[in-house]
Amino acid sequence: MTQYEILKHYFGYDTFRDGQDVLIQNILEGRDVLGVMPTGAGKSLCYQIPALMMDGITLVISPLISLMKDQVSNLNQVGILAAYINSSLTAAQYYKVLDLARAGRYPIIYVAPERLMSEDFLRFALSGQVKISMVAVDEAHCVSQWGQDFRPSYLKIVDFINQLPVRPVVSAFTATATAQVRDDIIDILMLRNPQVMTTGFNRPNLYFGVQSPKDKYATMVNYLERHKGESGIIYCLTRKVVEEVCSQLIREGFSVTRYHAGLSDSERRHNQEDFIYDRAQIMVATNAFGMGIDKSNVRFVVHYNMPKNMESYYQEAGRAGRDGEPSECILLYGGQDVVTNQFFIDHNQDNEALDPVTREIVMERDRERLRKMTFYCFTNECLRDYILRYFGEYGSNYCGNCSNCLSQFETVDVTDISRILIGCVESCRQRYGTNVIIDTVRGANTAKIRNYRMDENPHYGELAKVPAYKLRQVMNHLMLNGYLAVTNDEYAIVKLTGKSKGILEEGEQVAMKMAREAEHPAKVAGASAGKGRKGRKGLAAAGGAEFTEADETLFEKLRAVRTEIAKEEKVPPYIVFSDKTLTHMCIVKPATKAEMLDVSGVGEFKYEKYGERFLACVQAEMNSRHAIKDNYAARDNHSVKGNYANHEKKSHIEDEMFFEGDDLYFTSDSDEFDDWSLETALTAWECGSQENESRGAGRPDPILRTDQSEQ
Ligand SMILES: [Zn+2]
Repeated sequence: MTQYEILKHYFGYDTFRDGQDVLIQNILEGRDVLGVMPTGAGKSLCYQIPALMMDGITLVISPLISLMKDQVSNLNQVGILAAYINSSLTAAQYYKVLDLARAGRYPIIYVAPERLMSEDFLRFALSGQVKISMVAVDEAHCVSQWGQDFRPSYLKIVDFINQLPVRPVVSAFTATATAQVRDDIIDILMLRNPQVMTTGFNRPNLYFGVQSPKDKYATMVNYLERHKGESGIIYCLTRKVVEEVCSQLIREGFSVTRYHAGLSDSERRHNQEDFIYDRAQIMVATNAFGMGIDKSNVRFVVHYNMPKNMESYYQEAGRAGRDGEPSECILLYGGQDVVTNQFFIDHNQDNEALDPVTREIVMERDRERLRKMTFYCFTNECLRDYILRYFGEYGSNYCGNCSNCLSQFETVDVTDISRILIGCVESCRQRYGTNVIIDTVRGANTAKIRNYRMDENPHYGELAKVPAYKLRQVMNHLMLNGYLAVTNDEYAIVKLTGKSKGILEEGEQVAMKMAREAEHPAKVAGASAGKGRKGRKGLAAAGGAEFTEADETLFEKLRAVRTEIAKEEKVPPYIVFSDKTLTHMCIVKPATKAEMLDVSGVGEFKYEKYGERFLACVQAEMNSRHAIKDNYAARDNHSVKGNYANHEKKSHIEDEMFFEGDDLYFTSDSDEFDDWSLETALTAWECGSQENESRGAGRPDPILRTDQSEQ
C-alpha cells in the first residue's frame, strides 16, 4: 500500500495535514527528519505510516507510560499490531513482547528511553535477528536542557543508535518551538542532514479568552453551567486551590475529579482514568496533570490561575480540541497569581544546585517569562497574535476568534492624560508608586496625599473628572509601551524612561485601544461572541453543511453508542471515534458502508469492528425523523408543513438568543479594573507571599517520571 492508501484504509482520512506528507516522503527515502509541530497536528502519523511501509521494526522512544499506552491502543483499534516496553510490564509480559517482536509480529514498538541500554533490550536489538529500520524520537525536546522537560535518559538514545549494526533512519518530533531547542535536538541526536519541517503553531479551532472577574469561582461555575456534558480541564496553581475548587464543584453537583502531586499514585491513576474514559467530565488539576494525556475531545481548558509562562500556558491550553473541533481556552486572571508564581520562581529547588551566577540568570529569565505571561492578560490586541509572536511567528492582527478580537474597541487619543500623568511622575521626582500618582491627579483628599504633600503638586486634581479605572488603563498602556517604567523592588516606584520626554516636551501623541463603553454591556459582548464563536454548527456551516438541532440529537445518540463500545473494548471513547468523526457522521448521515467509509476518521478496520452499529444508529434516527414528518403531512399537508419549517427556524433563533445572553466574553474594561491593574501585578511581583505552598504545583509530577526512576 502507498502512504495515501494506508491513511485511508487504517486511519480513514482522505488527505494529509500540513507537513505530514513531506516528512513521510523523506523518511521513506531514508533521510533523517525533524518535525516541529503543535499538539494536535498529527505528529504520530508521520512515523506510524512509514513504519508500516518499511521492512523491520520502528522503535518509538516516548517519555511517558500513559502516552505509549494511548498510542498503542489507538493503533490496535485501527488494526495495526503494536506493543510497548516500559516499567508497567511484568517480567513475563516483557519477555513475551520481545519474543513476539523477534518473530516479526510488531512493525511498531514503543520503548521508554531508560530501557534502551538495558542488557535484555540490547541483546534483542543487537542480535541480528531483528532489523531496526527507524528510531522515532517523540517529545524530542526532552534531550535539551533548555527545554521545559529535560530528561537525562534521552541523552542515551544516540549511544543506543550508535551501537546498532546498521544505522536506522532517525526521526525526531516535538511541539516546542524555540530555535535553541531545535538546534539541540539536531546536535544531540546527531541527525544527519535532516529535513526540518516546522508547521504553524496556530490552532485555529481554539478560542482564546482572558477575563479578570471579581468572583472567579462564580464566573467559572457560570461557564461550566453553559458547557454541561462537555469534557474539560480546570488548571489551578496550587494543590490547595485544586482541593477547594474540586470539593466545591462536587457539592454543586458537577461531575468532577482531581489530580495533583500530593495524591497517592493509585488515586491519581484512578482519577485520570475516570477523566479519560468520560466517567468524570471535568478534571481539576495542577500542572502535574496532562503530559502524555492524548484525550482528543477536551472541549475547554479553563485556567483558574495564570500559569508561570506562555510555554506552560500554550501547552496546557493546547490540550483542548486535539480533534480539531472548536474548543475554548479561558484564562481567569487575578493579581494574586503573579505573587504565587513569583514565589515559585524564588523558591525553585531545582535552581539550588546551580552556582549563584547561573541561578540569578535563570531566575531573571523566569521573571521575564512571567512578565510576558502577565502582559498576555492585559493586552487589548489579538490574543492569538500575541501567542504566535511569543513563539516567533507572525500572525495577523485580527483572528476573529479570541476575546479581544470579539470585543468592540475604539482608538482613543490619550495624549493629554498621558502628559499629566508623566508630568506628575516627573514633578514628584519619581518617588512614588502608581496609586499615589493616580490619587494625586484625581485630587484625592487623603492623609497619605497630604503627608506626601502631593496636594501641592502642580498636577493635583487636574484629572478629577476621569474615572480611576481609565487612568489605570492609560498608566498600564504607558508602562507596556515603555513611556514609564516601574522599579523591580517591593515599592514598585514609577520612573521616567527615555521615551517620556517625547510626550512631555516634543508633542508626541498617544493613542490606545479602549473597550467601547456599552449601553448594555452583556448584550453587546454576547452578540459579538455569538457572531464569532464557532460551535459545532459553525464548523459544519463553514464546511458548507447544515448542522441542525436534530443533528445535535443524533450526535448525542452516536455518542451513547460510542460510550457503549468503549466500555466493551476497554478503551477511552475518543479512541473509538473522535468527536470530529461523530460530527462528520451527523452531517453525512451515511446509509451504506461506502458512505460510512467516506466519513473522516472511519477506516476499514474500525468499520468492520463497529461501523454497522453506528450505521444502524444513524438510520434509526433518520427513520424517526421521517415518521415525524409523515405524521405532520398526514394531518394537514399545507399548514403543518409550514409549522414544521417554523419549528426548525425557531430553534435556530433560540440558539442565537442563547449566544446573545452569553456573558463570558466581556472585556477588561470595567469598574473592577482597580482590583487587578497591571500595577497590582507588578507590585505583587517582588513581594512573594509566605501563605502559598512552597512546593508542588510548580513542579512536574513525580508520577510522570515513573520511567526515569526505574534505572
Ligand atoms: Zn484574535
